[in-house]
Amino acid sequence: MRSRWNPSDIPADPLGSLVYRSRLIGEEADLGLFGGGNTSTKGELPDLFGRPESVLWVKGSGADLKDCQPRHFAALRLAPLLSLSRRARMTDEDMVAFLACCLIDPKSPRPSVETLLHALIPERDIDHTHADAILSLANTSRGQALVRRVLGDRLVWIPYLQPGFALSKRVFEVYRRHPGSHGAVLEKHGLIAWGPDGRTSYLRTIRYVSMAERFIASQHRRKRWSAPRWRALPREERLALLRRWLPTVRRTLSQARRVCLTYDDRPEVLEFVNARRMPQVARIGPATPDHMLRTKRLPLVVRTNGRPLASLSAEGFARQLQRYAKAHAGYFQRARRPDQSMLDPYPRVILIPGVGMLTTGKDATETAMAATITHHAIRIIRDASTVGRYTSVSAREAFGVEYWPLELYKLTLAPQEPEFSRLVGLITGAAGGIGCGIARMLVDRGASVVVTDVKRDEVESFAQELNQRAGRRKALGLVMDVTDEASIERAMDEVIRTFGGLDFLVSNAGIATVASIDRLSREAWERSLSVNATGHFLVARTVVRWLRAQGLGGAMVFIASKNVPAPGKEFGAYSAAKAAETQLARILAIENGEHGIRVNIVHPDGVFEGSGLWKTIGPARAKTYSLPPRRLESYYQQRNLLKARVLPSDIAEAVCFLLSQRSAKTTGCVLTVDGGLREAFPR
Ligand code: ZN
Repeated sequence: MRSRWNPSDIPADPLGSLVYRSRLIGEEADLGLFGGGNTSTKGELPDLFGRPESVLWVKGSGADLKDCQPRHFAALRLAPLLSLSRRARMTDEDMVAFLACCLIDPKSPRPSVETLLHALIPERDIDHTHADAILSLANTSRGQALVRRVLGDRLVWIPYLQPGFALSKRVFEVYRRHPGSHGAVLEKHGLIAWGPDGRTSYLRTIRYVSMAERFIASQHRRKRWSAPRWRALPREERLALLRRWLPTVRRTLSQARRVCLTYDDRPEVLEFVNARRMPQVARIGPATPDHMLRTKRLPLVVRTNGRPLASLSAEGFARQLQRYAKAHAGYFQRARRPDQSMLDPYPRVILIPGVGMLTTGKDATETAMAATITHHAIRIIRDASTVGRYTSVSAREAFGVEYWPLELYKLTLAPQEPEFSRLVGLITGAAGGIGCGIARMLVDRGASVVVTDVKRDEVESFAQELNQRAGRRKALGLVMDVTDEASIERAMDEVIRTFGGLDFLVSNAGIATVASIDRLSREAWERSLSVNATGHFLVARTVVRWLRAQGLGGAMVFIASKNVPAPGKEFGAYSAAKAAETQLARILAIENGEHGIRVNIVHPDGVFEGSGLWKTIGPARAKTYSLPPRRLESYYQQRNLLKARVLPSDIAEAVCFLLSQRSAKTTGCVLTVDGGLREAFPR
């Protein structure tokens, strides 16, 4: 690991330079992930009377070092914190209350649970990381001796203790007995480096991590950590197995709350899941307790019992999930306190020999976090197994962190999940005005969406825009031709890889042709039927098969047209195909009610905003009505009862209603969004 320290970038004020250093540390994924680790500095601020007062700036709980800002740090009065060094013990709750009283600004974020440690060590700057290379040494059965041999005697060894008051006191006492130390290695947890200034603490972190990395690399040259036992199945076979398993797996995992699953078959994952020793080492425990928030204590290792993986049925897979949940319930019952209740007992990480890894979470951002952590854990396990025997916290120690009231308190502060949270939907024709409007509203209301279109660039950049808008991975953009079965199946494979399933469909892709029947070519007629009727059928058939296999119900909305009940002249190819689409939707409603799958139809009219359709047929439609093209939109507006301009967001609102539980008792229904057209009233 190389130092990124650049003196010319460093702000002069203590907090600014702490933020600079924290970001340098956060940018190194091998030093810690997603809010893990914390940093501090000490200095002075004027008190209420303008007299200088000693303060500690420390990272707020949960903030990510990678993109931290000054507002993510809390400033605390140092004097009262130091008085705690005389106390023998303190509960977590008392400590948190005490820290709150020491805040200079009561509105600052809650300071890290390791604040006291930062306060008691009388060095100005302190960096605490969960560095992979340090964990690879410290998580071995002879960790203490190995750390001393490789990293020298300036780092003191602290046997495992849960973060909090006792750990802070222990580090302080050890520090006093070892003058001149550079930091501490916390067994099965991480590294603390300190120094008289930020540059020293930072460079010590980098230096010790580099020493550990070099040692591990030298050991890798000497021996391989484990021989392979399984062979990775060909990609096609892996996907076929996922298609067989995932509907049942997602249903089983979604018993308490619905989850997404993301599939990972990157080479390092395949190497790990296929290793002879994987089933043993994967069940030892987390690389650092902090990882458990996203991965739980243990992954599920799918067992094949010596039989070929292809013989594992979806039900057999589900039974393994249930056994895992039962084991978690046992772990909870053995260690619980009376006031505690059990968290979701199902795994976050599933390792499948020959196939790869599945991670679970409320959306693809959560599944990606669990996957990233597991990638680091895999490397730590592999490296630790190369330099010694990998160890981790005991089940009881793990329980102490996994069910730690201070962590669970965080969960109670999480905002309520929005209406479509945890649901995944497929939207066709999503590069156009109506499709875009629907996708935006669904993402704003918490859904994960797969936006598809025949226009690759448009749909991929639109997915990017949606992800930026949500600040999370909520959208996947895929090129898909609704008239091509192979294209639909390819898209479905990507949906399964990214989200592990589907909950709803918005069947929206369409084209328009303007010509009177006497002038309509057979090609134009067939093209319209192919996209506007057969396209809906092909996509709906794939989706409904999935929804039925998944057994979690579902919803479909078909964007048809006012032209179904009230066709216009020169719109024959379009209107006939849209009528077929509407009828298709009704049959789907009839056939799938018993599976809890609702199917409804929206009839829009004259939606111009962002529309590619009107760009192509606008001039021809204007001619049909003997209007100049610029007057066409207002013609549509003036002909409806409300004199309303119908917008994509109006269609989106109707679609959201029909997809949501607010319309839980509605299926086979047509909802018009046309400003009111008497001749187009559904009947
Ligand atoms: Zn830590």
